[in-house]
Amino acid sequence: MSSLFQNYARRPIHFVQGKGTLIVDDTGKEYLDFTSGIAVLSLGHAHPAIVKAIQQQSEKLWHTSNLFESPEQEQLATTLVKDTHLAHAFFCNSGAEANEAAIKLARKHTGKHAIITFEKSFHGRTFGAMSATGQDKIKNGFGPLLDTFRTVPFNDIQQLESVIDDEVAAIMLEVIQGEGGVNQVTPEFAQAITDICESKGILLIIDEVQTGISRTGTRYAYEQTVLKPDIMTLAKGLGGGFPIGAMLGTSALHDSFGPGTHGTTFGGNPLAVAVAQTVLNNVFTSEFLNEVNEKSSYFLDKLKETLPAYTIVGSGLLLGIVCSDEAAPYIAEAEKAGLLLVAAGPNVIRLLPPLTVSTEEIDQAVNILSSILK
Ligand SMILES: *Cc1c(COP(=O)(O)O)cnc(C)c1O
Repeated sequence: MSSLFQNYARRPIHFVQGKGTLIVDDTGKEYLDFTSGIAVLSLGHAHPAIVKAIQQQSEKLWHTSNLFESPEQEQLATTLVKDTHLAHAFFCNSGAEANEAAIKLARKHTGKHAIITFEKSFHGRTFGAMSATGQDKIKNGFGPLLDTFRTVPFNDIQQLESVIDDEVAAIMLEVIQGEGGVNQVTPEFAQAITDICESKGILLIIDEVQTGISRTGTRYAYEQTVLKPDIMTLAKGLGGGFPIGAMLGTSALHDSFGPGTHGTTFGGNPLAVAVAQTVLNNVFTSEFLNEVNEKSSYFLDKLKETLPAYTIVGSGLLLGIVCSDEAAPYIAEAEKAGLLLVAAGPNVIRLLPPLTVSTEEIDQAVNILSSILK
């Protein structure tokens, strides 16, 4: 019997090495990794710049705790908020932790407790983040949950308006629901949220744990909408494979998170920060973003050309193929053919290559996808 809890339905492959988009198992079989460890490996496996950052920093200093000043955290925070309306960052270790911080900050700042979230959303597995998540399969068996959250259908303006009252602290959403099916916020819904938040003084929390850090072709996905978050959360792609999360907020929120209000032992430790800074130095340049957008268009055109019967959804290099039946059997077949994929919801095949993927690798992936889906 396994010494592990069986809380994951693991696929029976043991990976031993990766480089760029390629990953190799213990039998020597090569795969194209179009999961990126679920949108984590922004620069692919074992990128030389990240290897170097870890090597150099690990010889100097790994950990000090947040008892002491950190110019490196300052620099990372400055890079994250540069050319945005956001002003401050708090560093943690995961997406769920970033969302916990966001929920706490929104409640503390407003003195209110209700937070509106959406069906099919995913915000993480800790108690607050799980309660915020709009999927019963994530929550079943763990109740009673926090009764703070009011969950309504995504992109439904009337239903959203019907749950707004004076108790609402915040509206919390993903610009593209990554786990829930690659569902994009509509321009009309984004406008309605903006109007409601402005007129009622409600905070806007955007969960960019999956969509952020250039994944969708802009540094943050909200930049492609009218939405202006008061609070934004990040994790996955930020560390390129090293665990780090962040919560960003506007200057108006600064005083609500004073000394002693919130914290974490590991959050923003020098090793994690050195890696994240290296990731951002690479993926936040306009040249890099242009390449992501070019590869995205190339990928989209190829998919539409070879799979005209399918709807392709998403943005940048967070794309989805909508199937009329379950996605899992196709994903299993692709794996046999050497292409790693992950589902989004029951019937969407999610495509999340490293942002450094080449057009040749996109061609190879499309060939495998077309042979399986045709
Ligand atoms: C993955 C994810 C989370 C949870 O992140 P963890 O690091 O697994 O805690 C939260 N929100 C979104 C949108 C995600 O995709």
